[in-house]
Amino acid sequence: MGETYRHIAIMGPPGGGKGTQAAILSEKLGIRAFSAGELLREEVARGTQEGREIEAIITKGNLVPSRYIVNRMRERIVDPQNAKGYILDGFPRTLDQRDEFEAMQKDDPHIVANRLELDLVLLLQVPDDYVIDRIIGRYACAKCGALYHEKFKQPKTFGVCDACGHKEFTRRADDNYETVVSRLRNYRSVTAPVIPYYEEKGLLKCIDGTGPIDVVAEKIRKVVGY
Ligand SMILES: [Zn+2]
Repeated sequence: MGETYRHIAIMGPPGGGKGTQAAILSEKLGIRAFSAGELLREEVARGTQEGREIEAIITKGNLVPSRYIVNRMRERIVDPQNAKGYILDGFPRTLDQRDEFEAMQKDDPHIVANRLELDLVLLLQVPDDYVIDRIIGRYACAKCGALYHEKFKQPKTFGVCDACGHKEFTRRADDNYETVVSRLRNYRSVTAPVIPYYEEKGLLKCIDGTGPIDVVAEKIRKVVGY
């Protein structure tokens, strides 16, 4: 039998399928997936002291310091409801977040005692031109939000939503060439440097993220062990 992993981070370029694969893995393993953005929004909505601080930082258009994000991740990791494991979707995204997260794991007695440390980092490898193709062509049903793609996933009847029969569709304003290229450039300079550390630690597994969703999910299944 191979190893099994339940404390997982999924990394990869924007538009590389992280969110999709995190959702599939979450369902298969019966454990939750967390993204930094979602946790910060939740904290703001809860109206806690840190939530108000986060809101003020975001309102000013500043980057949220890593410790706020790591605090949120920590709460979920030590929550008895998540005792079966966790998936971090697109985290850590910066060197600073990684270092803060590593220090937190080492120092937190609950995490150390219960061996809740990250044990697998999945890196979805997807070439830039593939990401660009994938993002540029995507659109959604204006009514139910079902997702489509000009090349990869047209509705069964052209111009009619499979899910609800609606005939109008929308595109995200930031799904354009310039924005995608700039996000990829940002990924290379800000996020990619996070990865070698995990390779040295022996946690990194690279997955070819090109190809159909279920094929990539199957590659992930073999590595994660379920
Ligand atoms: Zn629809």
